[in-house]
Amino acid sequence: MSRQLGFDTLQIHAGARPDPATGARQVPIYQTTAYVFRDADHAAALFNLQEVGYIYSRLTNPTVSALAERIAALEGGAGAFCCSSGHAAQVMALFPLMQPGTNVVASTRLYGGTVQQLTNMIKKFGWSAKFVDFDDLAALEAAVDDNTRAIFCESIANPGGYITDIPAVAKVAAKVGLPLIVDNTSATPYLCRPIELGATIVVHSTTKYLTGNGTVTGGCVVDSGTFDWSASGKFPSLSAPEPAYHGLKFHEALGGMAFTFYGIAVGLRDLGMTMNPQAAHYTLMGIETLSLRMQRHVENAQKVAAWLEADPRVEVVTYAGLDSSPYKSRVPTVCPKGAGALFTFGVKGGYDVAVKVVGALELFSHVANLGDTRSLVIHPASTTHRQLTPEQQAASGAAPNMLRVSIGIEDAKDIIADLDQALTKAGG
Ligand SMILES: *Cc1c(COP(=O)(O)O)cnc(C)c1O
Repeated sequence: MSRQLGFDTLQIHAGARPDPATGARQVPIYQTTAYVFRDADHAAALFNLQEVGYIYSRLTNPTVSALAERIAALEGGAGAFCCSSGHAAQVMALFPLMQPGTNVVASTRLYGGTVQQLTNMIKKFGWSAKFVDFDDLAALEAAVDDNTRAIFCESIANPGGYITDIPAVAKVAAKVGLPLIVDNTSATPYLCRPIELGATIVVHSTTKYLTGNGTVTGGCVVDSGTFDWSASGKFPSLSAPEPAYHGLKFHEALGGMAFTFYGIAVGLRDLGMTMNPQAAHYTLMGIETLSLRMQRHVENAQKVAAWLEADPRVEVVTYAGLDSSPYKSRVPTVCPKGAGALFTFGVKGGYDVAVKVVGALELFSHVANLGDTRSLVIHPASTTHRQLTPEQQAASGAAPNMLRVSIGIEDAKDIIADLDQALTKAGG
């Protein structure tokens, strides 16, 4: 078939073909570490990247490759590789771009763990991050300096309620000649397609909606294949002879696949943050129903957010699908199929009532996760955002009375009834 396949078809078929050895229709779990070379020439061609094939599962594995190809297709990217977690994917996205002394300009509205990673961990690599309010495009542009190598944001931002104006941010990135990396975990490619909106690279925690049922951790990095890595001289790992790969000039040799091949051949080879085939299997199973689940997640989130907003015990609801949200106007362009299912609400009565609500919920699970079929709740100020300063907590929407919910695909009536009884018990 030469016609462009639709999303619902790609989520089932992209990257998969009947197993050439057995005809197995589902993608087999290739539970193997290594692959037999046909002969010495074949081995040499694989190591030279002259032939694409399998060498060792730290680099690539057929089950994991099927998943990478599927996510690349869903995001409209040129290539992708999978990692052991979403956090691994973030490091792996930056790795080809950064050198000691370089920085990334990042949005203040990010997953708490990402703020931590970009604030402290990356300093050990000699990298740093500058955090800016991405609604202030002038401040974003002003934060870029000669050592900036990337701009980083989330599409629908954790802990929820915020939508990044990706087309506007992409315009700034293009003006300053830098790649835009978008974490599309909370939106998924069903709701948001960052590459079509101007992003260079998309990262995912496949742990969340892509797997969908809270079984495995994983990550993915997708490259659009469109960035000119040689234009500025700022990306020597991709444009200059790479000493870590016998002097190969990745961009010259591999064009639009340079970033992906670098991520595998140098990044995964040397850092080893590889996805295992069992994890890829679970995610391949989950991703087949992504669009169906996301439709129900959004439908339920819309109902639950509207109910909470009308409840006198609730002070504020930050769901971008509500008319009261300052970000609702971004939904039609950034995430036309809905504002996701992750949002926060603030209870009257502050920290104490918020903690009591969490304790009284019965259907909701109190966990540090999101994007499960089950409804989930967490109190960010005492958990995921605990290690942030009060200023960072406030900037990322995690004030003491705020609860973050990830609305599942149960009956909306049951989700609402659970919130109702918990608010009553908490006396808010
Ligand atoms: C969970 C999450 C991450 C980190 O992913 P892990 O798979 O837990 O390492 C990064 N970004 C966002 C938006 C997330 O929700």
